[in-house]
Parts: sequence; C-alpha cells; structure tokens
Amino acid sequence: MATTKTEQTVSNTHMNMPGRFGAYGGRYVPETLMAALEELEQSYAEAQADPAFHAELDSLLADYAGRPTPLYLAKRLTEQLGGAKIYLKREDLLHTGAHKINNCLGQGLLARRMGKHRIIAETGAGQHGVATATVCALFGMDCVVYMGEEDMRRQELNVYRMRLLGAEVRGVSSGSKTLKDAINEAMRDWVTNVRTTHYLLGSVLGAHPYPTMVRDFHKVTGKELKRQILEKEGRLPTAIVACVGGGSNSIGAFYEFIPERQVRLIGVEAGGRGKALGSHAARFEGGSPGVLQGTYSYVLQDDAGQISLTHSVSAGLDYASIGPEHAALHDSGRAEYVSASDAAALDATVRLARTEGILPALGSAHAVAEAIRIAPTLSSHDILVVNLSGRGDKDMGILARELNLQGA
Ligand SMILES: *Cc1c(COP(=O)(O)O)cnc(C)c1O
Repeated sequence: MATTKTEQTVSNTHMNMPGRFGAYGGRYVPETLMAALEELEQSYAEAQADPAFHAELDSLLADYAGRPTPLYLAKRLTEQLGGAKIYLKREDLLHTGAHKINNCLGQGLLARRMGKHRIIAETGAGQHGVATATVCALFGMDCVVYMGEEDMRRQELNVYRMRLLGAEVRGVSSGSKTLKDAINEAMRDWVTNVRTTHYLLGSVLGAHPYPTMVRDFHKVTGKELKRQILEKEGRLPTAIVACVGGGSNSIGAFYEFIPERQVRLIGVEAGGRGKALGSHAARFEGGSPGVLQGTYSYVLQDDAGQISLTHSVSAGLDYASIGPEHAALHDSGRAEYVSASDAAALDATVRLARTEGILPALGSAHAVAEAIRIAPTLSSHDILVVNLSGRGDKDMGILARELNLQGA
C-alpha cells in the first residue's frame, strides 16, 4: 500500500471536498477499506455533535491525562539567549510523557461508541504504541500494536512497556522494518478484521477522516495556549514553534492561531545528518507531492516514485511523509517550515536540560533548537512559544550513545 503517484496524476478538482486541504489529503485506499472509513467519518461526525462525548473526553483529559498543561516562562534560557521571551507549552507533563494521549483518548472513546472492542495501531518510536496500550487498558479493549523489527530493537523499553500494559506487540520484518512497514501491516489487519476492529492511527496522516479527526483531538493544546498567553502577557505570541513528524503536535498548537495572521507558525522537520536523500526527514526540503499510505501530501521519494529511506536521531520525526494540512499551510505560506539537524537537536537537549532542568524528547528538541537559533535575532518585546511535545526519558538510551557527557 506504499504506492505513490506523481503530481500530474492527482488533479486539483477536489479542492473543496471534505478531507481536502487545498489539493492535499483525500482518501487513496483499496475498495475494501472505503466502507470502514465512511463508517468512521459518520461516527465521528455524530460524536462531534454529542455533548456527552465531549464531556467524557474533557473529563478524561483533565483527570487522567493532566490537562491543562502549564505554559512555562523559560527565564534562564531567555536570559542566556538575550532576545525574545521563550515560553514552553508543557505537553511533556501529560500522562505517558507526550501529546499522543490526547488523540488516543479521543479515538478510544470513539471506538467504544462504535462497538469495536479490538484496537490496532502502528508505532515507530513506541510512544504512540504506549499511549494506545494505555487507553486500551483503561477501556478494557484488546490491543495489537504493529512495530518494525528494527524499531523494536531500538526501542526495547517501550516494547516492554506496551506488553506490561497488556498489548500484543507484533514485529514487522518487511521492507526497512520501520514505521512505514508497520503502517502497511496495520492496514492489512484492518482490511481483514474491519468489523470488530478500530485502527487507532497516531498522527494527522492517512486517509480522510484521520487527518481532520486527529487534528481536532489535538487542537486543545492551541486553545489552552491562547488563553494562557493572553493571561500572562495580554497579547498573542510573535511565533509558535513546534516539531513536525506526522504533524499532530504542531497542528494542535497551530490550529487556533491560523486566523491570527500576525502570529508566525514555524514547523521544524528533522534535518538529520545532511541534505542527501536518505539522510533526513525534511519533506518540504527534499520531497515532492505524492500519495503515501492513503493521503496526498509531500513525500520523500526518488524520481521513480519509490519512497526514500529517512533518517533522524528522533524516531518520532523519522517518516517519509507529512500530514496533508501542513502541505496546504506550506504552499499557502501561512506556516513556515525549517529543519534542525541531529546535532542541533542534541545540543538543544543538553542546553534545555542544563538551563531549565527540563529534558525534552529528541523530537521536541528540534523545536527548541529553532527557538535557540532565532530568539537572539528577535527583540525582548517578542514572544516565542515552543510546543514541548514530550519528555526525554524514553530517549535516554540514544542520548547515552550520542552524547559524550564528560565533554558536553
Ligand atoms: C510522536 C512524537 C512526535 C512526532 O509526531 P507528530 O505527529 O508530528 O506530533 C513529536 N514529539 C513527540 C514527543 C512524539 O512522541
């Protein structure tokens, strides 16, 4: 199902259809999944209109996940950099250690409403798998998580964590044995078991309604952020900076601000080791429009439309495509996309740990790196908000390998 199409084969005739973001998005799946996606779209629309659904989700977000998350002024980092004031939106303080729980609680409630007792999910770094396994334990649902064997090796602790929570982790040995291959396996499972099973997709990717639905479950971040910054500063920030893997934490932070044209929205992709195809996951620098895993967006691919390998020190940012809404925000110029290298993210991790006592996830550290780069170029009147999507505990193995702490 990792099929791609070149730009020419996808026309812009669907511009205003549901599930389209400009020319991007849509629903490129086998016939066998169409009915399931339509059922999901319908159930989601009904849930959206039901105050009881929102009341239950809001109560779980507050009492189980820990919302609202604080907006923290990073005073020492701000003083050191000598420019814009830097705030951190502390999604790292959520239950399971990252923003992913917002979406998993929402989709878990929706699955229960749809009478589906079996949940499948894909995971790369294991964070989405852990959040899914957590929600399945909470709701008493069966949980199967597909994970590439290479990722299982790299993220052993998260594999154990999922198993401890009662999930079955199924290793995927096809292709590059990473996230893309795990998504293919999850889609195969869904085709076979669609009547009993909900596919709990982990980012703003895949076929409609996933990009819209997952964004809706994350937009609480931006809503809180707007209220909090107005309380603290009495005005909106100069810019919001967030890392972009599939694009869920960033769209969650950005969405409320899209109509506020004076607020810059800055997405940070994984620059990896360099600009060569295969060395990074910067879709807007090295990619082109194409279809991957159900949606039309920017894809890292070669001239023949074969999906490229990707690299990032952060497994959470290491994916060949990006959510279709970001593709539209990129092309319209409403959001800006830059990249931060592995080295810059590692430096930012150490810097934030030592100035603020906060250890960011390696994904989130890409956003911190961009804030560190631009803060000194701005004035003390400017405000930067970094969406700190997750905490770094899960990355300790990688950090221990990559950093020479004596020398740091
Ligand atoms: C999964 C993950 C990401 C990347 O996913 P998005 O959908 O782009 O948010 C970023 N940060 C953390 C902490 C993650 O766990």
